[in-house]
Amino acid sequence: KEFRNNIRPNWCPGCGDFSVQASIQRAAANLGLTPDSLAVISGIGCSGRISGYINSYGFHGIHGRALPIAQGVKMGNRDLTVIAAGGDGDGFAIGMGHTIHAIRRNIDITYIVMDNQIYGLTKGQTSPRSEVGFKTKSTPAGSIESALSIMEMALTAGATFVAQGFSSDLKDLTSLIEQGIQHKGFSLINVFSPCVTYNKVNTYDWFKENLINLNDIEDYDPADRVTAMQTLMAHNGLVKGLIYQNKEKKSYQDIAKGYSQESLAGSDIQLKEDQFKDLVGEFM
Ligand code: SF4
Repeated sequence: KEFRNNIRPNWCPGCGDFSVQASIQRAAANLGLTPDSLAVISGIGCSGRISGYINSYGFHGIHGRALPIAQGVKMGNRDLTVIAAGGDGDGFAIGMGHTIHAIRRNIDITYIVMDNQIYGLTKGQTSPRSEVGFKTKSTPAGSIESALSIMEMALTAGATFVAQGFSSDLKDLTSLIEQGIQHKGFSLINVFSPCVTYNKVNTYDWFKENLINLNDIEDYDPADRVTAMQTLMAHNGLVKGLIYQNKEKKSYQDIAKGYSQESLAGSDIQLKEDQFKDLVGEFM
């Protein structure tokens, strides 16, 4: 309850993003976080509104830039649990450069992508996650571009925590988010979060029929990167659960020289008046 505020989400009834919001709130509560120890930073899109719907520190950033802001927040205050959130268009099109570099940097934040295979806020155009043949207003004859295999890409880029959830599985999604927050390094959680208004192909029923639960694969070992890649390729990326985790690689914070053990935000930094004037005087 403490992570709820009095703002009513203006998502369409049935939008998958409701479950993502609830899962973040539950995960935070289960881990014993408090509103002032959590920051949720979002980009632009329907899903980008999520930072306003959770009672915590939050910042609704600009398109594709949730990750640079989230990384800055974490570097400024290492004591905060930082979650970046946004849609597949936000993170895997305009924000893809940031996604790749945050992955290889292995900075200790969690990135939750609400993947609905379409641009919802702008009323239904293909996204980087739309499959070939997907018909939208921007592709009336069907998309001729291949969908980005985001989980495979994350593994290739050196991700240390790769998971995929489904909005319909609140309990499993909450658990994945908890594991992602607890992971020491960058955690990427892609969530199949149906857009009930504009995507009439990748519906809740479609995912229920097509998603493979990794828990049902005998001896699946998320520590084995090769198996993870092979499994993704065998099922066209349509798996849910913890795909891969590397607990050995150190996070950015662990290896960055000069990164204080004490949070910058908690440090006693005082500028003398003349120094302050030198810095900002001309703007005052
Ligand atoms: Fe959700 Fe789609 Fe409605 Fe946006 S347009 S709020 S993604 S259902």
